[in-house]
Amino acid sequence: MLRMPQFELVQPSTVDEAVRALAECPGALVVAGGTDLVPNLKHELFTPPRVVSLAAIAELRGIRRESDGSLSLGAMTPLAEVAESELVRSQAPALAQACSLIAGPQLRSMGTLGGNVMLDTRCQWYNQTYFWRQALGFCMKKDGAVCHVVKGGKNCVAAASNDSAPALMTLGASLDVAAASGRRALAIDDFWVADGIYNKQVARDELVTRIRVPATGAGHRGAYGKLRDRGSIDFPLLGVAVRLELDAQGAVAQADVVVTALAAQPKRITKVAEALAGTKPGTAAFDAAVEAVGALAHKQCKPLPNIPGDADYRREMVPVYVRRTLQAAARREGPVHHV
Ligand SMILES: Cc1cc2nc3c(=O)[nH]c(=O)nc-3n(C[C@H](O)[C@H](O)[C@H](O)COP(=O)(O)OP(=O)(O)OC[C@H]3O[C@@H](n4cnc5c(N)ncnc54)[C@H](O)[C@@H]3O)c2cc1C
Ligand code: SF4
Repeated sequence: MLRMPQFELVQPSTVDEAVRALAECPGALVVAGGTDLVPNLKHELFTPPRVVSLAAIAELRGIRRESDGSLSLGAMTPLAEVAESELVRSQAPALAQACSLIAGPQLRSMGTLGGNVMLDTRCQWYNQTYFWRQALGFCMKKDGAVCHVVKGGKNCVAAASNDSAPALMTLGASLDVAAASGRRALAIDDFWVADGIYNKQVARDELVTRIRVPATGAGHRGAYGKLRDRGSIDFPLLGVAVRLELDAQGAVAQADVVVTALAAQPKRITKVAEALAGTKPGTAAFDAAVEAVGALAHKQCKPLPNIPGDADYRREMVPVYVRRTLQAAARREGPVHHV
């Protein structure tokens, strides 16, 4: 049986108390729903002296529409609530769809949006028990000095595997971040660091308090596509978030595609807007442009053997999921996945 390491549990009821509890104990960690942190504690990937629970902080919960039409989602909002929210489904369909495909129903009830944004990177050589990792001499993300994915590699390439992240990137979201030293806003595009050991610009003693999604209009279309082993529960082998903005004539004015589960940060595919601009969904020109975007994504995405699933197969599935997810968004459908 895997046991939890010992730690002090602190249960603040305000954000200020929480950030103080983090600041006064170096190495302390936050727990939200615990659906990722608890298995990681049992695997001895983290051995914090203190764990600060966010469960009793009321201001971290709930979804609301602000006066400028933007959405404000509390970090402690359960994934199931994000997935089912009419506000999110209508204004940010890619986010609702991504959250609807995270893990399984029980985990979506426990797991939170903030915990998903802050999810640790994943690797098949790392998400293992201490005994398993020890047998291999560990690796540089935890307790060791080598990388088993890139032989001789100097950087950890564990994969960003949080499904909400690419959707939030296509939506131009930002994070409200609190620390003992003050509060700040951070654009999700500035959140990432290309280092699988810790891929975030939010430090361990900081809290994500809210996730903000700018207003979208009538021409907004979004969808999420996910490749995974078992349709009912698995982490992504690939995640594809897309955004289309249609003008008054129904032609594409703006477009964005972000792919995740590749390396430490999700990848925005370049030249997508140029390829799709001016085409109208439902026409041969749009279909040809979608085909071209799939080819761009195939060229730009090179999955590694960091997470389970054959890397060559995952690469061949990139254009398939990009095409299907773009077409689903155009038809106001999605998510794209197999069950
Ligand atoms: C079987 C299984 C399948 C899963 N499948 C998926 C999947 O398909 N896709 C996916 O994305 N995830 C998946 N997960 C992971 C996890 O369930 C989700 O990512 C969930 O959203 C994590 O949220 P949580 O509230 O449980 O986070 P926790 O486990 O509580 O925390 C996760 C990390 O975030 C930090 N943290 C949490 N909240 C905050 C905050 N507000 N501010 C700062 N730091 C914070 C914690 O310190 C910790 O490092 C799966 C987990 C399991 C066990
Ligand atoms: S990518 Fe390399 S260093 Fe990073 S977790 Fe995997 S094996 Fe370890």
